[in-house]
Amino acid sequence: ELILAVETSCDETAVAVIRGGREIVSNFISSQIETHERFGGVVPEIASRKHVESITLIMEQAMAEAGASFRDLSAIAVTQGPGLVGALLVGIMAAKSLAMALDLPLIGTHHIAGHIYANRLVHDIVYPSVALVVSGGHTELVVLESEGVFRIIGRTRDDAVGEAYDKVARSLQFPYPGGPHVDKLALEAEEEIVLPRAWLEPDSFDFSFSGLKSAVLASINQSRMKGEPLKAEALARGFQASVIDVLVTKALRAVQAVGAKQLLLCGGVAANRGLRAALAARCEAEGVPLLIPPHSLCTDNAAMIGAAAHLKWKHGEFTPLDMKAEPGLSLEQWSVRG
Ligand code: ATP
Ligand code: MG
Ligand code: FE
Repeated sequence: ELILAVETSCDETAVAVIRGGREIVSNFISSQIETHERFGGVVPEIASRKHVESITLIMEQAMAEAGASFRDLSAIAVTQGPGLVGALLVGIMAAKSLAMALDLPLIGTHHIAGHIYANRLVHDIVYPSVALVVSGGHTELVVLESEGVFRIIGRTRDDAVGEAYDKVARSLQFPYPGGPHVDKLALEAEEEIVLPRAWLEPDSFDFSFSGLKSAVLASINQSRMKGEPLKAEALARGFQASVIDVLVTKALRAVQAVGAKQLLLCGGVAANRGLRAALAARCEAEGVPLLIPPHSLCTDNAAMIGAAAHLKWKHGEFTPLDMKAEPGLSLEQWSVRG
């Protein structure tokens, strides 16, 4: 089957055509990063307006590149949530119009299910598995009980990892999104300022990054007040080391706890070179297969939405045409009923 998938939950307008849930027939992304850069973050109203400007063109490009006609499609998938409500609405309107005009089923799709199932575009997933989701808005440990069935065992109690990276980067004067800049600085650093790790309760799979972020900001302010030079590299390295230590340790503990056959890494922060290397080393040492999508499928894209929507398509679980954007859509409730 051929699914046309639309993603507009944040600042990327993306459309893809996916065959059989695994094969990328076409995959188009128009990023608004340059627009939002000067504001130091995503401005919701501007994001919606930009989506409106690009969605039709991106859709036409995705179809042209696929060499397919609208009549060849089996279903229309669209991110229903979580995300910015005004941004989600643009994709939903476009997807609904298309589904209505072509008389095709609509599949409202969970954005994080998409990040997780980006892995299936390049790897075979076996169950049960554990997914470590690290993105701009989420930090979660998710058990994949079986195909399309999700159980969240850990989540952040405050900032998401990507959010912490972006705030630290901003205080070091880097443009949005700052994650890649901090990653680079950390890897080049010769010294490390050791920062605290938030382990929480001994058996908890939850995360907390706001204390760590505050420690970095406090150190920057102290240097400023004392008129000392800023040790940006050493701070970036200390911050990254703390983040990676906690993420890697808890992810592998989760794998042991549920007897998972694989560990999947996904979300925008999966692009972090330090995290990838540390996870790969620990997984290798413990004999745990590690799946990571290629860089282009880690950050927001529509191919991953098509991959997740395929799970619903398989079971004929479609979404009514009057569905609404759900900024707080639950991943567990989105699980396939089978
Ligand atoms: P969500 O998926 O939770 O709704 P989002 O879609 O905004 O959030 P993504 O696009 O998945 O998030 O990821 C973007 C985040 O990834 C940003 O916070 C960005 O700084 C971070 N990021 C990207 N590359 C790196 C890197 N190399 N190191 C650390 N963080 C990174
Ligand atoms: Mg994004
Ligand atoms: Fe995302």
